[in-house]
Amino acid sequence: MRAVVYEQANVVVVRGWADPEPGPGEVLLRPVLTGVCGTDHHLLAGGFMATYPLIPGHEIVAEVVAHGPEVDPASVARVAPGSLVAVDNADVCRSCEYCRRGRPLYCRNFRSLGCNAPGGFAELMVAPARKCFALAGIGPEVAVLTEPLACAMHGADMLALTPGSDVLVLGAGPTGMLLAQLLLHGGAARITVAAPSPHKLELAGAFGADETVLLPRAGQDAAYEKLKALAPSGFDVVVEATGAPDVLSRCTGLVGMGGTVMVYGMADADAMVPFSPYDIFARELTIKGSFAQIDCFDRAILALQTGRVRTEGIVTHSFGLGDFEQALGATRLPGAVKAVVDPQR
Ligand SMILES: [Zn+2]
Ligand SMILES: [Zn+2]
Repeated sequence: MRAVVYEQANVVVVRGWADPEPGPGEVLLRPVLTGVCGTDHHLLAGGFMATYPLIPGHEIVAEVVAHGPEVDPASVARVAPGSLVAVDNADVCRSCEYCRRGRPLYCRNFRSLGCNAPGGFAELMVAPARKCFALAGIGPEVAVLTEPLACAMHGADMLALTPGSDVLVLGAGPTGMLLAQLLLHGGAARITVAAPSPHKLELAGAFGADETVLLPRAGQDAAYEKLKALAPSGFDVVVEATGAPDVLSRCTGLVGMGGTVMVYGMADADAMVPFSPYDIFARELTIKGSFAQIDCFDRAILALQTGRVRTEGIVTHSFGLGDFEQALGATRLPGAVKAVVDPQR
């Protein structure tokens, strides 16, 4: 088969790779649409949990080709050959101290297809049958957002929003916009989205954001003043959904007394941000993280099936495997929000 391969940090090729064979409990899959995400940049740069050589691609919609041995009867019925599934890329060992403590997301042996195991930028792949979710009623172009929405679902879990909260989301990438919608439906009294791209802000507005504020990449002071004017006593919650340290460094200044900053975007592992410990102490601020997801796929699919979370306009560009490097750079194209790869094209 052909696959995108990260040979080592900063070296990406499209080349032949041995066809995978499903092991016990696994299914053989033919990826039909795989989303490109900021994590794919971090993995190529040598960050996150990259192990080389790596077939990236963790936002996967695939067709089931065949079952391997020992697939349980319930999974056989649920994901019959020919059915279209969203693949939950995250899996855990169930035996380390965190798994045994009921905190599987912190698994010592966290396995993530497309991050530290072969993923979906390939003509074929394998995954545990129990990690494949049938897609009744939604097509690949919507279902490809299942993994980002599952991560947003976990973000909403972590935030445990108080109804009536005044929420600011910094960043209007796909995950920021999906999380903003969950918070909108999860009780926020007002959602403000700030980001550097006018077309993304327009989309955020169409998805229900009450206020949108253009946050240019340079000379941001005026934009931050505008945000402060919107909430003179500070927002209840500020979600940092860009991964940019300079954006995060502004967040505590935007929350009110007793407010919460959630670090939702992925920064480089060695990035540092200065905070005032006195400010966090005296105003009783909370800073919390939200990392990936575990077992959020069924809720994400239901929200996509009902249309409660809207996706139209998020996927703007589509590429074949051979054009992977273009796909990786597509977010810089004018009007781009998210690129996907069709590995069978
Ligand atoms: Zn992703
Ligand atoms: Zn574990």
